[in-house]
Amino acid sequence: MRNKDALKIYSLLLKRYPDALDSPTTVGRGTPFQVLILTILSAQTTDRAVLLVKKPLFSRYRTPAALANADIPDVEEIIHSLGFYHAKARHIIAAAHTLVSEFGGKVPLTMDELVTLPGVGRKTANIVLYHAFGKNEGIAVDTHVKRLAQRIGFSGTSDQDRIEQNLMRLFPQEKWGDLTDLLIAHGRACCTAKKPHCGVCPIACHCRYFQNLKKTS
Ligand code: SF4
Repeated sequence: MRNKDALKIYSLLLKRYPDALDSPTTVGRGTPFQVLILTILSAQTTDRAVLLVKKPLFSRYRTPAALANADIPDVEEIIHSLGFYHAKARHIIAAAHTLVSEFGGKVPLTMDELVTLPGVGRKTANIVLYHAFGKNEGIAVDTHVKRLAQRIGFSGTSDQDRIEQNLMRLFPQEKWGDLTDLLIAHGRACCTAKKPHCGVCPIACHCRYFQNLKKTS
């Protein structure tokens, strides 16, 4: 795909989902500490489910130091509605502990430092860097971004790191964070996993999946 076509798709998605950027219904709102912890918790679940535990969790553990000293069963009780809550409770307590012991109680500002935190990979680090600090160091490739990148034709691989590289080549750096939000919004509303709603899709005429569908029908 040409950069020009990718940008056209970006503008069409922005027109369709103007509220997707920095939406209060995502985990990417709050202090850097909150964004980090909520993003770790968002693995394998929905933002809506994670936001339900935001208030009880942070009213009890307001700082990295408080969470670092938490008892695992107490944290598990608060986040048990999320999947994998045993592992997630351990991850967020360990991440808080590392913030305190290695970073002076602050969320670090670089990819290299963020990925040293327990439970944090490139995807989580990209979300934190963008939403907490406004930094576009990479593109967060979650399940929606991965599926849409393949369907639309931004990338021909299923490898998340290579998809990220493909997207970074196609789009200018200042659009990387917003691109993730737009693709997620489109993946939820229209290009759903089981059955994409191509008939009402604003980018159908640019989409490889749709073009192939037309050829075979
Ligand atoms: S045309 Fe269909 S497959 Fe392509 S982006 Fe739109 S909904 Fe998804």
